Amino acid sequence: LPLEFERAKPVLEKIIAAGFEAYFVGGSVRDVLLGRPIHDVDIATSAYPQEIKKIFPYTIDIGIEHGTVLVLAGRSEEEHYEVTTFRTESTYTDYRRPDHVDFVRDLSEDLKRRDFTINAFACDIHGNIIDQFDGLADLEAKKIRAVGAASERFNEDALRIMRAMRFSATLDFEIEDSTFEAMKACAPLLEKISVERIFIELDKLLTAEHWARGLEALIRSQAYQHLIELELSGLEAMLSAYGNFQFQNAEQAWSAIYVKQESPGLKAILRKWKCSNAFIKKVTDIVSAYQLEAWTLESIYQYGLDTAGLVDELKQAEGLAIEKGRAKNLDASLQIHDKSELALSGKELMAACNITPGPELGQLLKAIEHQIVNNKISNEREAILAFAKEELK
Ligand code: ATP
Ligand code: MG
Repeated sequence: LPLEFERAKPVLEKIIAAGFEAYFVGGSVRDVLLGRPIHDVDIATSAYPQEIKKIFPYTIDIGIEHGTVLVLAGRSEEEHYEVTTFRTESTYTDYRRPDHVDFVRDLSEDLKRRDFTINAFACDIHGNIIDQFDGLADLEAKKIRAVGAASERFNEDALRIMRAMRFSATLDFEIEDSTFEAMKACAPLLEKISVERIFIELDKLLTAEHWARGLEALIRSQAYQHLIELELSGLEAMLSAYGNFQFQNAEQAWSAIYVKQESPGLKAILRKWKCSNAFIKKVTDIVSAYQLEAWTLESIYQYGLDTAGLVDELKQAEGLAIEKGRAKNLDASLQIHDKSELALSGKELMAACNITPGPELGQLLKAIEHQIVNNKISNEREAILAFAKEELK
């Protein structure tokens, strides 16, 4: 057993000692078999949530209606495991969430409801792999294959279409033919899925090492047509410019869709995706700063070094000439990085120059900021006052 499973073993042992079954399941088993780092260890059990709560003194109900209880192992703050009762999911009338889940005592039933063969392993306490759907062969062949009849599975939950492409991008796997055909056929059902859930998958896809592979699947399956305003031209431009580049973060990846055809509606599109304001600001900043010729004191002051770095990386990735270190040097020679760092506040300025709030004051402050950003005057009270008095003459 890998270290992470070894650490969690006492949790399984306790459940088993109480007379139930317990297994490691899901992505962690897949990742162990692939030799990839695991993030969360998921445990599935024949015990019902109330039974789990009797076994462990410290638990948190995090999704008890779906059968999930968080077990705090107690040895350290951060050691906790999601323990989920074996379950089946029935009748997906809205193509997204099961109408209800039924708890069952049989592992095999639980594995059947999982999305892909490589996600449907269980691993027992001795490290034996239960592989009911030939997932090991698919791991070997690097294939994403639906468990059971693919089109039924995508009809039940269309998010699985996005997940298939996402796993293709993170694992560098190929989507098996009949699974891919079913994705194409079921793609319109993506319109029924909440944008938040799709955004999460798309985000993981775009920031994955093999994102180009996932994006090609998104294009070839025509699934992009059923997502929020993703233009084929933007996606293709992104592929051809950055196909071999690994994005630093989601903001940079999303910007790459739009940099080539700066769209005035970008903010509105990102709002439809229900992105956070901070996310929207970063993406729109990257896209508009990308259009600039070369960095200046003013533009570095406006966008900041972080955005500048993300823009320069994009340009470099597509072989555009950028002056290395320019952004950093300019940033280092800025006297201020924000209005709030001005040596003289608006209030003090009003008192010293005897002016009242209004457009004149606003203009004066802007002019002062401009002078300081361009290093025409130094950010000191005396220098600012001298400049202000000259301006007001
Ligand atoms: P990651 O590495 O991103 O955590 P994961 O495979 O663990 O990948 P999760 O979303 O954490 O994915 O889900 C855990 C497991 O639950 C999956 O491995 C899969 O067996 C099952 N699962 C999750 N979402 C679905 C779904 N929409 N349909 C069917 N099974 C699912
Ligand atoms: Mg997981």
